[in-house]
Amino acid sequence: MAPVSKQYDYLVIGGGSGGLASARRASAMYGAKVGIIESGRLGGTCVNVGCVPKKVSWYAAAIAETLAEAKGYGFDIDVKGFDWPTFKTKRDKYIERLNGIYERNLKNDKVDYIVGRGHFISRNQIEVTDSNGGKTTYGADKILIATGGYPDVPSGIPGAEYGITSDGFFELDQQPKKVVLVGAGYIAVEFAGIFRALASETHLMIRHDTFLRSFDPMVQEVMVKHYEEEMGMKIHRRSKQTKIEKDESTGKLRVHYEDSNGTGVLEDVDTLIWAIGRKPRAGDLGLDKVEIKRNEKGHVIADDFQNTNVPTIFSLGDVSGKVELTPVAIAAGRRLSDRLFGGPKFAQTKLDYANIPSVVFGHPEVGTVGLTQPEAEAKYGRESLKIYKTTFTAMYYSMLEHKGPTAYKLICHGPEERVVGLHIIGLGSAEMLQGFGVAVKMGATKQDFDNCVAIHPTSAEELVTLK
Ligand code: FAD
Ligand code: NDP
Repeated sequence: MAPVSKQYDYLVIGGGSGGLASARRASAMYGAKVGIIESGRLGGTCVNVGCVPKKVSWYAAAIAETLAEAKGYGFDIDVKGFDWPTFKTKRDKYIERLNGIYERNLKNDKVDYIVGRGHFISRNQIEVTDSNGGKTTYGADKILIATGGYPDVPSGIPGAEYGITSDGFFELDQQPKKVVLVGAGYIAVEFAGIFRALASETHLMIRHDTFLRSFDPMVQEVMVKHYEEEMGMKIHRRSKQTKIEKDESTGKLRVHYEDSNGTGVLEDVDTLIWAIGRKPRAGDLGLDKVEIKRNEKGHVIADDFQNTNVPTIFSLGDVSGKVELTPVAIAAGRRLSDRLFGGPKFAQTKLDYANIPSVVFGHPEVGTVGLTQPEAEAKYGRESLKIYKTTFTAMYYSMLEHKGPTAYKLICHGPEERVVGLHIIGLGSAEMLQGFGVAVKMGATKQDFDNCVAIHPTSAEELVTLK
């Protein structure tokens, strides 16, 4: 075995949302000797191929919608189009700036940045392979696995390799005129909204009759209708792809499919995006060698305290697969470092995974915290729930021909009507949700909502005046 070149208190594999947060907390707050190993770009999925470039793209799409609506407010403007290559270049530069900031933050917090791919050679030693194949061994008392995940692609569909994934979305140099998205979760719905708002012909292929099936039925119903009827997306229900062909001379794709209307072929497709979920990135970590347990999907199994089955090895974020969101990985990472290095007062510190608010950056946005109605019914029984609902047209649309949906639902439980689920669709939902998330987390009741005086005129005021 190679000699250990440096010994740490804490070695983190993966410089993404969770790893960075945990490493910095351990070093900056508690003075632990920390190293972080990253084989790609600092910041991980969120910064490089996730939340950040996605949200910037969402803003571009939202501006396109506003420009189209400006006439309704009396503006005499002539929009000549959207320059995707210019937008992409600026977006890439922004991400590069962020990569630099993350590196400087590590330096400021005295965390060693180790470039390369890490894998276990024993329960307290990691070998790092750099881009030239050079190998260095590091030792640590405690090791965190925060290696994230990667997009899944289907197997068994001839020509599936002609499609790209969310990673490829961020590399597109040109805006596709005609795009097919396969999938029914966050990414498919967000990307489909972006493309359509920017005027691409957009086909969304889903396996069932609706998308966002883990969300409240109101969300599914309102969003599917809006995407299809107002935005003009083509939704292929109960569909599957049977073959993808590429015309080598034009680069265009031909997507053969079956859906609820029979069989069909989509010709002249510029881009096909698989958005069918993500897998944990744990295959090459040497976990079997150190007998770290994974579940049937390959996620590293971690308990509520982020402990794996090996006492000195921890795991969090997407690789452990609980709730795959950046703030979840960050919160779990910081709490873990508090517990490991912060002394006795943090001995029981852990992340509470209940009532985590989440937003789908669709057009419009969807916000959700707590239980969906089916989940609440299964947990408490329908008779102990009171459901408050409203749908209306936001004032913004009063001057416009075209209308966007707004729909809110509160799910309340028991005689005190504690709010156990809150679901919102409409303009501004993303920014609105954070405050309501605090209320739900604190155990607010319907009466607490009603006791808060409304802010007028807003859409959000409807949530504190529901009848
Ligand atoms: P990651 O951020 O993926 O970091 C893992 C890091 O480990 C990577 O940098 C990887 O290169 C590195 N690594 C892996 N293996 C090794 C190894 N062996 N050695 C060294 N380094 C290694 N979440 C939100 O909350 N809001 C959003 O709006 C949102 N939008 C998203 C949009 C898209 C398109 C995608 C794909 C995801 C989005 N997410 C969003 C989810 C979010 O990005 C992830 O939940 C989050 O990044 C997970 O953080 P992590 O630390 O677990 O992993
Ligand atoms: P999701 O798990 O959200 O959704 C994928 C969905 O695609 C499945 O639920 C399934 O829905 C459908 N699907 C699965 N296999 C197939 C198939 N072969 N053909 C067609 N459809 C299929 O995964 P995403 O990739 O969208 O996102 C990964 C995770 O990243 C999210 O779960 C979320 O945690 C995070 N994320 C968060 C965002 C945010 O916070 N705004 C944005 C983007 C990602 P069904 O069963 O209905 O067919």
